[in-house]
Amino acid sequence: MQSEDDYNVLLTRLRKSLPETITTHKRFEIPEPEVLYEGKTTVLRNFGDIVDAINRESSHLMAFLLKEVGTAGSQEGRRAQFKGRVPVSQLGDRINNYVDLYVLCSECHRPDTKLVKEGRTLVLECEACGAHRPVRVHKSTITSKKLSALEEGKEYDVMIQDIGKKGDGIAKIDKYTIFVPGVAKGATAKICIVKIQGSIAFAKQVFE
Ligand SMILES: [Zn+2]
Repeated sequence: MQSEDDYNVLLTRLRKSLPETITTHKRFEIPEPEVLYEGKTTVLRNFGDIVDAINRESSHLMAFLLKEVGTAGSQEGRRAQFKGRVPVSQLGDRINNYVDLYVLCSECHRPDTKLVKEGRTLVLECEACGAHRPVRVHKSTITSKKLSALEEGKEYDVMIQDIGKKGDGIAKIDKYTIFVPGVAKGATAKICIVKIQGSIAFAKQVFE
């Protein structure tokens, strides 16, 4: 009897010492962003659920999203708020970017990773396969490409987020505020950039 008890105790202890990934094999799913608009504020209702699913610091994800979307905002409990009307698709894309960058292992594509600092470098360590890669922020974010890509004479698809005092539609692409005459609030439009002045751009609607 004594030896069987010892065996059970040992077995329990052994199971507890196994990493979660071996015993559970949970499927990795990021919740779709649930967004609602309160006036000119965008509320990401399930921010907390998304943070739980990806197992990262909420402040880290929040800082990333604010930078990528190019707006101000804050965490309010398990919700997150952003200034302005941020399209759901944009939030979803940016969350996916974050996951590619800071969560998924580039070798085995599993999310069982952790972020560690090695000197000044942020390194993603995979607990499933042992892979180890530095996080390369600059190359993989879409924002940096888009920022340098806003050019006079080029066409972009935008959503008209607001109407300015003079009646022009206002769209945003990252840091740029773009004025488009003759469009309605909430509409999506193909526009051609006419002129860029700093972070302000003037565009005209393009009809196909
Ligand atoms: Zn891996």
